[in-house]
Amino acid sequence: MSKNTPLVAGNWKMNGLRENASELVKLSESLKSAPVDGVDVMICPPATLVLAFSELMKESIVQIGAEDCHTLVSGANTGDLSAEMFADCGATAIIVGHSERRADHGESDALVREKAQATWRAGLVAIICVGETAGQRQYGLTLDVVRRQLKNAIPDAAIAKNTIIAYEPVWAIGTGLTPTVEDVTKVHDEIRKELVERFGAENGGGMKLLYGGSVKASNAKELMSVENVDGALVGGASLKADDFMGIINSYKS
Ligand code: PEP
Repeated sequence: MSKNTPLVAGNWKMNGLRENASELVKLSESLKSAPVDGVDVMICPPATLVLAFSELMKESIVQIGAEDCHTLVSGANTGDLSAEMFADCGATAIIVGHSERRADHGESDALVREKAQATWRAGLVAIICVGETAGQRQYGLTLDVVRRQLKNAIPDAAIAKNTIIAYEPVWAIGTGLTPTVEDVTKVHDEIRKELVERFGAENGGGMKLLYGGSVKASNAKELMSVENVDGALVGGASLKADDFMGIINSYKS
């Protein structure tokens, strides 16, 4: 079990309309009536829902995050949204460098690093995603790829309070496939080692390290019990309150 307070964060991706606030309310009510002590919970909905969800969750333990941001505060950037705009809407964190952003929008580690800095500039926590593709894994490059992403995507000023790392093997996202517990242990141990070497025991040891990729209620307990896994970043199974609660409940003693 990890020594850091775990976080179970949901990434709704491009899913959800205002009517789906009912799932968020259901989640919050479930957590109120049957609290799971010692776990942080977050939902990162599409940008269109961040303000409404933040207002709905004002009295709840459920935090609201965003899925991406631009690097700048403001400007002639049609269609983009800044970290400051999300802070203004009540978000507490922003996911940066998700593999879908890297693949669909060609985001580089350098850009992800700038987005993490933008997130901090707005006073928010950066959830920085790393992870290898199926091909990289097949060639035994997992640790090399993850080390390179950590080195290049995490800014030097990272501290435990403003940075969360999510290890998400690209081939496990939305596929129903998951690495073995041994594989997750190996990668998370390596990430922790890199973080401690670079940021010191307090900050490197204190950064939450999430696992993401096809987490569901049936595999959460096993994955979340790995020593350096401090929670999960969850896609599909975060859309329905009952499914997401099943994952959060894996932390029930
Ligand atoms: C994700 O997109 O961050 C993710 C982990 O998705 P899923 O849980 O659906 O694999």
